[in-house]
Amino acid sequence: MEKQRRIFIQKVGLIAAASAFTPQILMSSTGAQKKKLGVALVGLGYYSTDLLAPALQLTNNCELRGIVTGSPEKIPVWQEKYGIKDQSIYNYKNFDTIANNPDIDVVYVVLPPSMHAEYTIRAAKAGKHVWCEKPMAPSVADCEAMIKACKDNKVKLAIGYRCQHDPNIQAYMKVGKERPFGKVRMVTSAAGYFDGRTNHWKQNKKLGGGAMGDMGVYALQGARLATGEEPISVLAQASTTRPEIYHEVEETMMFHLEFPSGARASCQTSFGINMNHLQVNYEKGWLKMEPHSSYNGNNGSMSDGTIIKFSIPSQQAKQMDEDAMAIMDKTDLIVPGEEGLRDIRVVEAIYKSAAQNCVVKL
Ligand code: NAD
Repeated sequence: MEKQRRIFIQKVGLIAAASAFTPQILMSSTGAQKKKLGVALVGLGYYSTDLLAPALQLTNNCELRGIVTGSPEKIPVWQEKYGIKDQSIYNYKNFDTIANNPDIDVVYVVLPPSMHAEYTIRAAKAGKHVWCEKPMAPSVADCEAMIKACKDNKVKLAIGYRCQHDPNIQAYMKVGKERPFGKVRMVTSAAGYFDGRTNHWKQNKKLGGGAMGDMGVYALQGARLATGEEPISVLAQASTTRPEIYHEVEETMMFHLEFPSGARASCQTSFGINMNHLQVNYEKGWLKMEPHSSYNGNNGSMSDGTIIKFSIPSQQAKQMDEDAMAIMDKTDLIVPGEEGLRDIRVVEAIYKSAAQNCVVKL
């Protein structure tokens, strides 16, 4: 039984890894050749520059064909590096004219969270599929408006939860669903890092900053994905050790979640503490992951001796290839807008609980 389970988890990983790196030319179910999807990145900050643009070079189903930026000095650098055509370069004012650009199929919104709703809705109205970074938006109302705009304009909306494309994370999600160790009793989940910046959007409330929306969604996802359930109540406490920097938003958020099955989770997130671990205690065993939401190297073990350790060349490349495939094949996305919304419902409740110092029911 133990051996079977180990083999089974390995297979999950192999299938996932194989599907990420399919042959260059995709075939539709009718046998017709499909083109790669053209992607335009909106916002050329850290994540676009260091992770997404390089990962796009590793994809089979996508091509970096456009940029949207408010920083003209970045344009020649990006054109030189990625061969982007003049007609596929936009600023925040003329962005809507992307509607007339047949080279662009997908707009990937990589801006501060307060700008996600506006650019998702504008992209949808331009008839482009949208990939939007996490956290989906600062409010449930924004998330609902984004989902509606994409539905109304018949385009797909994916949230950039790269971890849900990672076979290591998929392995612990499967354990939660198939319950080889019985029900989940307790989850402990933490995601944080030390951010030394003093004047970034992550420290600005209006722009959607705060540890909870940033690293906190990974701690929250750890609990939601490990249980496969949605929380029914939250109790949260915000704190800071650097009030001179974190006076608008929290540096650290600790939150407890209660799930319908009776499972509980204790979660922490911070811009002041390096941490990234997940522990799940089931009725008859346990699972540990450390790290559980990194770009690479996520790995763990279980009480029956099973090791979870799959390596993939690039989480982001796999995410974008799978999202592109879902668009081309008209199949379900792994992380649709509705999944981003589920998190933001809980995040709103966490902020309410921290502000009012009470349990908030969901
Ligand atoms: P960043 O600050 O490095 O880049 C933000 C970009 O937005 C910059 O190019 C900036 O010029 C532009 N921008 C436009 N208007 C702005 C304004 N009013 N204020 C500030 N910047 C403005 O941020 P980042 O780390 O690249 O994060 C961007 C998004 O990507 C966020 O939603 C973040 O949560 C997400 N992200 C996701 C991951 C992941 O692992 N999925 C990792 C990092 C960041």
